Amino acid sequence: MGTGRLIVLTGPSGVGKGTLLKSLLKRHPELCLSISATTRNPRPGEVNGKDYYFVSPQQFDVLVAQDELLEWAEFAGNRYGTPRQSVLEAIQAGKWVILEIELEGARQIRHTFPDAMRIFILPPSIVELEYRIRNRGQDSEGAIARRLKRAEEEINAANEFDIQIINDDFDKALDRIESTLFAPAVC
Ligand code: 5GP
Repeated sequence: MGTGRLIVLTGPSGVGKGTLLKSLLKRHPELCLSISATTRNPRPGEVNGKDYYFVSPQQFDVLVAQDELLEWAEFAGNRYGTPRQSVLEAIQAGKWVILEIELEGARQIRHTFPDAMRIFILPPSIVELEYRIRNRGQDSEGAIARRLKRAEEEINAANEFDIQIINDDFDKALDRIESTLFAPAVC
């Protein structure tokens, strides 16, 4: 069995992380995507247990109090966190586990898992990012404003990550993520 590994994928809301990840998982079904818990309401089409575990603020409090989250953070008025046990079990079983999380969570993982590979996805520009968030048509004006403010903060921290990939051309961005993950180790 191979050696387990933790991979963190971060980037501003609307940058296309989710779509990139979907394609990456199609190419590499052996990769394992961690499903987060969130207090956010499901968007149309989102499924509990597949996209997220949708929990109440009280249930999230319990997860935090019982130390069941590997990391967690507040984002645009909601809380998001990574279930600890399923991730640790998968890594112990030799799997490569991907966390698709925001900046504060990625910073926490940097302390707890210094060996994690941390990738930051950048938009071609803020203007393009705003267009993508609006075009998605899933967020209120207030939520869009909060996400854009947070996006600027996140983009400013991109150089904290091992590698930065611009999602300008989807296929090229996907190829770069793939080659980053599967590049032979340099001794
Ligand atoms: P969305 O509401 O668009 O699904 O996610 C908002 C942000 O929360 C995204 O940047 C996403 O990567 C991040 N996120 C999703 N799950 C987690 C998690 O478990 N922990 C942290 N820290 N961020 C998460």
